[in-house]
Amino acid sequence: MVDIPNYHRRKSVGVKIGNITIGGDHPIVVQSMTNTDTADATATAKQVQQLAAAGSEIVRVTVDTEGAASQVSKIRKMLDAVGCKVPLVGDFHYNGHTLLTKYPDCAQALAKFRINPGNVGFGRKRDAQFATMIEVAIDLDKPIRIGVNWGSLDPALVTEMMDANAKLAEPKDAAAVTRDALISSALRSAAAAEELGLSRDKIVISCKVSGVQELIAVYSELAARCDYALHLGLTEAGMGSKGIVSSTAAMGYLLQQGIGDTIRVSLTPEPGGDRAREVIVAQEILQTIGLRSFTPLVIACPGCGRTTSTVFQELAEDIQAYVRTQMPIWRETHHGVEEMSLAVMGCVVNGPGESKHANIGISLPGTGETPAAPVFIDGQKVTTLRGDNIAEEFKELLHDYVDEHYATVTESSEQLG
Ligand code: SF4
Repeated sequence: MVDIPNYHRRKSVGVKIGNITIGGDHPIVVQSMTNTDTADATATAKQVQQLAAAGSEIVRVTVDTEGAASQVSKIRKMLDAVGCKVPLVGDFHYNGHTLLTKYPDCAQALAKFRINPGNVGFGRKRDAQFATMIEVAIDLDKPIRIGVNWGSLDPALVTEMMDANAKLAEPKDAAAVTRDALISSALRSAAAAEELGLSRDKIVISCKVSGVQELIAVYSELAARCDYALHLGLTEAGMGSKGIVSSTAAMGYLLQQGIGDTIRVSLTPEPGGDRAREVIVAQEILQTIGLRSFTPLVIACPGCGRTTSTVFQELAEDIQAYVRTQMPIWRETHHGVEEMSLAVMGCVVNGPGESKHANIGISLPGTGETPAAPVFIDGQKVTTLRGDNIAEEFKELLHDYVDEHYATVTESSEQLG
């Protein structure tokens, strides 16, 4: 972690989720969620493994039907069999009380239950069904997340709070009351879980909304009102650059304020797109702020009129992709490699200077420059690459650097087919 001026992490109660801890002094955790049908154990286990390989430290799966619940322990076993230890979280709505009691293997295989207080049930049934889930969590010593969502806020609570607000001498606007209702829903549910006997170090809270300013307002207040570990995320962030920018704008601000113990970036994948993109974006948010390191990031110049070919953009993209592909292996075998810095620069103006600051950097020739690419390692020029094979030769130098500079341990996991 880099030194961040005036950064103070909010103090929260640590919550152990399988082999990882959220909150307390522990690093901010990246998590994600599958979009497969959980009843299809093979497809779900495969996607969980892909998300874990990309760096997701917790993976949530939908548990919405008996077919899904019946497959969860099988998914856990399939993952264990290939050495994938990532904790699984079950996402329950409406029928969680039934599924968790009818399928004890499912409850046992999960490392945490996500409960949405707005989708637990109605009237008197609501409290009983919530209590059933909490009792299962207590019996199995499992943590829960009280996951409130703007789109499924308990209507009875909103009505109650709107009515109380209307009687005030100076009523708040509707948006402010809704924010209060989100926070109250989470805190009341957490208090109810504690009254039922669940300890504080078994409770994570989230209050997700889809607007940047709303998320900042809600989490700023939530953080001030409790010390529960907080799961941070902008819900329904959207597709492509809009989803990335809005998630980064909202979470970047809150993380900088020390708020957030685990994050998920809820990107809508393009049709046929890679689900693991949300994991990479979450890692990049934390890494570019300086809160954690996951993967060596390539520093590349934007290019300009001095670079009339696309060689350096292609090389920068190629090297970043290569590093990402290697990370699932390097993470196990080359500790500390995630801190390595790389530079791929387009010409002599900033190329050598920026390359010297990186652990390993290359300065490609701009238009009209001698067709040669000096390579710098730890600030020293070590060689000059020429010809059509620069990318491969640079990768070999990079690979040698990683082997020489980062401790090697041996451990491997198999791939699910
Ligand atoms: S390093 Fe060279 S090519 Fe890259 S932006 Fe600067 S001047 Fe342009």
